[in-house]
Amino acid sequence: MPVDYREEDRILFEEELDDFIPDRVFDAHCHLFWNDCMLPDVEYLPRTEARISDLLEWGEAIFPSRRMNFLVLGLPRVGTDVRKHNAALGEEMKKDPASRSNLLVTPPCDVKDIEADIDEHGFIGLKPYRIFSSTGDINNCRIHEFLPHEQMELANDRGLWVTMHLSRAQGCGDAENLADLTEYTTKRYPNIKWILAHCARSFTYYPIQVAIDTLKDLPNIWYDLSAVTTLPPFITLFQKENLKRLFYGSDGIDSAYFHGKYVTFGRYWYQVYPDDAGFSFAHTDARPVLCIYEQLLAMKQAAEVAGLSKDDIEGIFWRNAHYALEIPYDA
Ligand SMILES: [Zn+2]
Repeated sequence: MPVDYREEDRILFEEELDDFIPDRVFDAHCHLFWNDCMLPDVEYLPRTEARISDLLEWGEAIFPSRRMNFLVLGLPRVGTDVRKHNAALGEEMKKDPASRSNLLVTPPCDVKDIEADIDEHGFIGLKPYRIFSSTGDINNCRIHEFLPHEQMELANDRGLWVTMHLSRAQGCGDAENLADLTEYTTKRYPNIKWILAHCARSFTYYPIQVAIDTLKDLPNIWYDLSAVTTLPPFITLFQKENLKRLFYGSDGIDSAYFHGKYVTFGRYWYQVYPDDAGFSFAHTDARPVLCIYEQLLAMKQAAEVAGLSKDDIEGIFWRNAHYALEIPYDA
């Protein structure tokens, strides 16, 4: 996958981000993809493939000279041959002993197959996706509708991680999601370790504003900060959560390494691609930068508002994940 890194990216990194990024980065939310892991009888548009080498190539461009490792997630597409995809993911992960991966699960997956894949490939967790919801309503499904109870029982028995991109209109601010997370973490599945993706799916301020006072008191909750490019969710997490529960993540490659950003419109947010938008530019020679840099700028500004120390920031960028995922420093 060609790396589209531009002069405006370099200038912004050197002048605004270089000092902020520690010398090691653990990306707790990124995706790999292989076209030949789609089922033979489905129609789909082939897409750019992504392997560990692509993540590393992008990593070197974005964070020059930093050591990078990853928590890799399968990439969801309807029509994926799930076991083949997971086998490819498991094989690929052998190339990087300091990285980890969560396997793709969909509601029809048999728990025996999931266990076999975990045992064979060493996955540390599950990655369910709302697009496979058993209700067919991908925008308003509850957790158990795309991660069935028998899979949660397995995750609980084995103390697995679950990277959870919450569904429903208000993400973590939804009353049913909050009730489910409260029940699962405190009663029903106390051994599951949840990573709530995208600041608990709070691309805007409202969901995390509603949820934070509940979430911060629940056990076994972590967050990845991927793909959020607005300030308020970061300020809220930095000021109100236990910082050790925060992991840097990017959502690379496709959802983060494009020129543009996630722009909020009220309670909605949208991926905006200035290259295709026909914007006219005035006032300055500055041009749009990579979405991941927009996220990092927002994180940096929120860290300034919240008064985070260099040590706190280093924790968010890699140490918290290393500790929680039990990855040795020199793996
Ligand atoms: Zn993602």
